[in-house]
Amino acid sequence: MNGTAAVEGFFDPEAQALLGSRCTGCGTYAFPAKQGLCPNPRCQSETHDVVPLSRRGKVWSYTSASYQPPPPYVPTDPFVPFAIVAVELEAEGLVVLGQAIASVGAEELSVGMEMEVVTDVLFTDDDGPKLVWKFQPVEATR
Ligand SMILES: [Zn+2]
Repeated sequence: MNGTAAVEGFFDPEAQALLGSRCTGCGTYAFPAKQGLCPNPRCQSETHDVVPLSRRGKVWSYTSASYQPPPPYVPTDPFVPFAIVAVELEAEGLVVLGQAIASVGAEELSVGMEMEVVTDVLFTDDDGPKLVWKFQPVEATR
């Protein structure tokens, strides 16, 4: 998919993977990528590698956004409701928020459902498409 990441450093559109950090001292993962002191209180490390995170995870919670969210969300007119989903990533156990793909409404989601990260267009401006991660049920790809 052509375009550039809507928010730099959160997501690798080509790999369709979220970018997090992994502490060089204790291996603790963080998203968004951490800078400075490790989130693990028993670790004194301040260095973190930026790493791609699991592309799959399970629905932890979800909701329907039935009103316009605040910036940097780009408003649509008329507003089209979409589902916001919190997914617990397979390997890291981190809970990451994102939109579900447009064809999947909140009524089609359930806790524990397997989801994967995909690249989608958030909006398009003069520089071309701006890309963001979204979550799509794994069944939908089969
Ligand atoms: Zn650490």
